[in-house]
Amino acid sequence: MDFQLSEQHEMLRKAIREFAEKEIAPLVEKMEETGEFPLEIRQKMGAVGLCGLVTSPEYGGNGMGFLARAIGIEEVSRVCAGLGIALQVHHMCCWPLETWGTEEQKKKYLPRLASGETFGVCSITEPSGGSDPMGMQTEARLEGDYWIVNGRKCFATNSHVSDIMIIVAKTGTDPKGRPAFSAFIVEPDFEGFSLGREEKKMGFKGASSGELVFNDCKVPKENLLGKEGEGLKIALATVNRVGRPGMASIGVGICYASLEEASKFAKERVLGGKPIANLQAIQFMLADMFALAEAARILNYRANWMMDQGMNCDTEMTLAKYVATENAFQCARLACEIHGGYSCISEYAVQRFLRDAWVAIPSGGTSQIAKIVLGRHVTKNF
Ligand SMILES: Cc1cc2nc3c(=O)[nH]c(=O)nc-3n(C[C@H](O)[C@H](O)[C@H](O)COP(=O)(O)OP(=O)(O)OC[C@H]3O[C@@H](n4cnc5c(N)ncnc54)[C@H](O)[C@@H]3O)c2cc1C
Repeated sequence: MDFQLSEQHEMLRKAIREFAEKEIAPLVEKMEETGEFPLEIRQKMGAVGLCGLVTSPEYGGNGMGFLARAIGIEEVSRVCAGLGIALQVHHMCCWPLETWGTEEQKKKYLPRLASGETFGVCSITEPSGGSDPMGMQTEARLEGDYWIVNGRKCFATNSHVSDIMIIVAKTGTDPKGRPAFSAFIVEPDFEGFSLGREEKKMGFKGASSGELVFNDCKVPKENLLGKEGEGLKIALATVNRVGRPGMASIGVGICYASLEEASKFAKERVLGGKPIANLQAIQFMLADMFALAEAARILNYRANWMMDQGMNCDTEMTLAKYVATENAFQCARLACEIHGGYSCISEYAVQRFLRDAWVAIPSGGTSQIAKIVLGRHVTKNF
């Protein structure tokens, strides 16, 4: 067992940390005020390799893989979790495209995604309930050279800042009479497509999250992703192997951001002539935060390392996501406690960490759904 990150991974962390502090940190205040995604950041993130981490070099990426992705998203989220989720869902568009796409689809779409020319969308959730993908109502039927899509998606990250979207729709029934789903690649200028409302969220403020509306939307036949009927498989694999570790990486980023801010504040804040960092009560909170952050990071790196080795890691991905997002919330809360009343003032970043950590918990699947998966694993294996 080797817990040492490679030199390449350490160099990536250093480069992305510098990038995030120089290019992303100055944007955060405006994102918090306006809730707007800064479009210019896409190509800058592409230029430092963040957009093409899980895309092969032949399609314009750097193919550094999932552990590198975990480090990259963690470092972005340490500075701005809103851009962390924008990037993580972007990869949820790149990965299924490379895994199930035809050669034409990969050549057409992946280089634009890897360069950051546009960010990608992967939209499964509908108002009928994100925890129950079988309940999806959006339908597609084949008519001549087009799939005609009708329905509405919600909570689509990058909805209003993307030119390439993967969506899943019902396309009939399987041989056992259950609903069958297929995946499609959609572009915003397809006839019958429109954007619905863009949500105003309590956290992840800079990330665009909104509705995709399909009203007899004409999707060319060649934009079916994978085979007809493979949509649910593609959706679940993408959520499990890309979505959950992406959210876990955001959680880890928030944990360390909270820890750093809390430690800095505790050393600067003087009460009774001494920094509060000297108080055992404060040290205990910092120790708890450290334990929460390290546990989340180790679980997340293990799951992503397993993914890079081609191992089955669905359970480890779910565990990492559950622990890291819940730990992020606990860390942010403790950071707020250490800040006392200052945690309620918007110029102190810890209040943003708390809001972002809360929003991270349902994103990519709620903790209850994670516990159902993990509970099944326990009763089967222990
Ligand atoms: C910021 C953000 C970004 C997102 N980005 C995307 C995206 O890019 N693409 C996308 O497709 N989706 C996205 N989502 C949607 C997200 O995946 C869903 O919000 C999530 O799956 C939960 O679905 P829901 O909100 O409909 O809640 P529901 O499914 O309605 O759940 C409500 C409550 O019921 C509980 N519950 C539901 N079923 C069960 C059960 N069987 N057993 C026990 N408890 C249960 C849940 O845990 C929860 O507490 C995003 C969400 C957020 C908040």
